[in-house]
Amino acid sequence: MTDFQITLLVIIAGVLIVPWTASCAWGLVPFRRYLQCLWVLPVAIPIYVCYLWPFEALGWLRRIGYDRDLVTYSVELHRWPRWLRNLWLDWDGHALPGAIVVYGHWSDVLRHEREHVEQWYRWGVLFPVVYGIYLLRYGYHDNPFEVEARKAELLRATRS
Ligand SMILES: [Zn+2]
Repeated sequence: MTDFQITLLVIIAGVLIVPWTASCAWGLVPFRRYLQCLWVLPVAIPIYVCYLWPFEALGWLRRIGYDRDLVTYSVELHRWPRWLRNLWLDWDGHALPGAIVVYGHWSDVLRHEREHVEQWYRWGVLFPVVYGIYLLRYGYHDNPFEVEARKAELLRATRS
């Protein structure tokens, strides 16, 4: 192995193994979830850097709930510039890896979006792509991801 390859291996080991030890061996994050986080990370980073964190810093999103694996944000629409507000219009909420953003009528929206968060973890970097393909093929209402989320919404409603 060349010096470069050894260095690369050490870096990869450092990046993957050290957080793994911290998160899994100490029981902070279940191993499965840790792998799912890695799997979704390449899409999660741009979403967090370009949307979630700046919008939160501007006061356009406000943290209203904090759970071990999920942060819930409320959309402060009155603070958004008008041109941007129009983009939101009829949305109740949406899901991101590790976060839910909601506006208005909550509990059923939260149950629905929580299922989308799990879909993010399961499908990782492929989720937005497959969601888009399904959207083109089946439309919004019959999109299998939406069907699954509506089912979970009802299921969780009957349980709680
Ligand atoms: Zn949905």
